[in-house]
Amino acid sequence: MKLALAVSFLSFAVSLQAQTQFPTPLSPRLANYDITARLDVEKRTIDATEILSWKNHSNDAIPDLQFHLYLNAFKNEKSTFFKESGGQLRGVKLDQAEGEMAWGSIEIESMKLLSLNGNETNIDLTKQIRFIQPDDDNKDDQTVAQVLLPSPVLPKGEAKLEIKFKSKLPKIFARTGYAANGKFFLVAQWFPKIGVYEAPGDRYVPLTAPQGRWNCHQFHGNSEFFADFGIYRVSITVPKNYVVGATGVLQSETEQGEEKTLVYYQEDVHDFAWTASPLFQVFEDSYQSKNGHRVKLIFLSQPQHADQAERHFAAVKNALEWAEEWLGVYPYSTLTIVDPCYGGGGAGGMEYPTFITAGTFWKLPLGIKTTEIVTVHEFGHQYFYGMLANNEFEEAWLDEGMNTWLELSVMRRYYAGESGKKSALGDKTSAIDFLGIRIGDVEQSRSAYSSPESAKRDTIVKPVWTYKRGGYGTFSYNKPGTMMLTLENILGEDLMKTVMRTYFERFKFKHPTTRDFIRTVNEVTGKDFTPFFEQFLYSTVALDYAVQSISNVASDEDDEANVASDDETNAKGDYRIKVVFERKEEAIAPMDVRVKFSDGSEFRDVWDGVARYKVYEFQKSAKAVAAYIDSENKHLLDVNLNNNALTAKPETTGFWKWAMNIMFWLQNLFLFFA
Ligand SMILES: [Zn+2]
Repeated sequence: MKLALAVSFLSFAVSLQAQTQFPTPLSPRLANYDITARLDVEKRTIDATEILSWKNHSNDAIPDLQFHLYLNAFKNEKSTFFKESGGQLRGVKLDQAEGEMAWGSIEIESMKLLSLNGNETNIDLTKQIRFIQPDDDNKDDQTVAQVLLPSPVLPKGEAKLEIKFKSKLPKIFARTGYAANGKFFLVAQWFPKIGVYEAPGDRYVPLTAPQGRWNCHQFHGNSEFFADFGIYRVSITVPKNYVVGATGVLQSETEQGEEKTLVYYQEDVHDFAWTASPLFQVFEDSYQSKNGHRVKLIFLSQPQHADQAERHFAAVKNALEWAEEWLGVYPYSTLTIVDPCYGGGGAGGMEYPTFITAGTFWKLPLGIKTTEIVTVHEFGHQYFYGMLANNEFEEAWLDEGMNTWLELSVMRRYYAGESGKKSALGDKTSAIDFLGIRIGDVEQSRSAYSSPESAKRDTIVKPVWTYKRGGYGTFSYNKPGTMMLTLENILGEDLMKTVMRTYFERFKFKHPTTRDFIRTVNEVTGKDFTPFFEQFLYSTVALDYAVQSISNVASDEDDEANVASDDETNAKGDYRIKVVFERKEEAIAPMDVRVKFSDGSEFRDVWDGVARYKVYEFQKSAKAVAAYIDSENKHLLDVNLNNNALTAKPETTGFWKWAMNIMFWLQNLFLFFA
């Protein structure tokens, strides 16, 4: 043990001089961690020492520090996480059959203040640690700790602490833990992590506020995370036969007896996760961006999935190319993709800086794109939350919703489907193209909320633990993802690209808010999109426009009879034609309308969509044969696309019903696979 420590400290000293990844810091680097950790694979525990250097960027004198102790969410059934989630996440339950071993926790054994505001100290803070519950009154929740300091961290001052802690990993659950009898570890949310101090003017703290505040939420049933950027240097000791993957760049690997120690280093990230397993097969590839920047890709595969390394690499390369074009360059030099055991389970489909977990199945047919979808999605989080570090507790749509848009866009561009058949929305999206069934990723996303009832259940922007049960997926992923596609359809590709590139350039390595995004859209487009976002992000209104009716009345016939001639054109005279469009729900948006006549002519207009009905009347020798509202399906938020077209001779519109049935079947299939 001691020898291992000496070796790793030595290599750190060397590496600090030898390696600076970004000569000009990309981020403010407020929270910097130097962690030395040793994994006990038998006990499923990690013994570690963390040196935290934390900078106060505000003008406040701050009397306390606050920490996330995420693993305490799995300590017992009394945690807020357990009470809210019923002990399950994404359909995976904590495996209580394993008894005590299944539970997780984190214990701070000691906390020492090494220095404060530049002055060396040696003050034991261990007795100052107390659990607080800023979000609820659950006194049993131990996921946030507060520590009172002997004197405040001064404006622009710094506190350096040494924290010794022991983490007990749960049986893999809610993104972290052990599996396969200790032959697989996914180690995440595993160390005491300082909260974010928000100064006046930061995010939603008014500029006029007398002082700032800690933002350090408890671990909730659905919520993810929020943290400041910094430099991470982590030394990991594991049994010699374990393969390790982690956030950042591997700097050194040394063996001592039956163990080995690996040191990882990464600048300008806000989290660190790692994995260890003797079962992994390691694959490597690389991606070169258009400006010459090289990214090393590492795939840690379960042995039975080795033939799918290429699928994972291809998905990530596609996503990298797309993101570079639509957002900006991925600046880091590595990306590690972990294929967790048990086809994903509680560890699959998660993202940490430069480190993602995907998930696949043995011999998964190429036509089922779940592996590509999950790989693209988790990679996308390198941008949405990874670099654009919004508060995932409070505004989850900024990461999950925007990232769903990224996922849909990448799937649409790169995975057109093997059969070449068009999906129901007529575009190239592809979630599944297998055994003659073809379903687009967009349709899958839409299906989650495309009834007025489900669309109106909740608003998008609210703390995620306050969503109505089951609302997290719909209102953090599907609806905002579809809203972003709708915005893209309205703006067109070029303008949308400028909006997103501007948003990324302005807010990368910062903590953007919904308001920041809306301001960016308004500024770049020169139009006021506030009403659009107010409706879809902050209210529960649904959008549904329809063609209500078409009537063709021959002029020489009795009005009251309202009988249309069977002839397509009326030789004796004109038709009086009436086409009625309808706004069936509360949301308002300008709509393209179109009427087609039997002589091949067409009428087009843009209706402002404000009134409940819009009536168009024509006097023509040809009959109206069809009418359309939003015929290009720009407004994918429309909860019912079936009623967007009407032909004078009704034709079947049963396709959507059929598609929705298939979606139900498909979701069950995914659950079955998972
Ligand atoms: Zn996600």
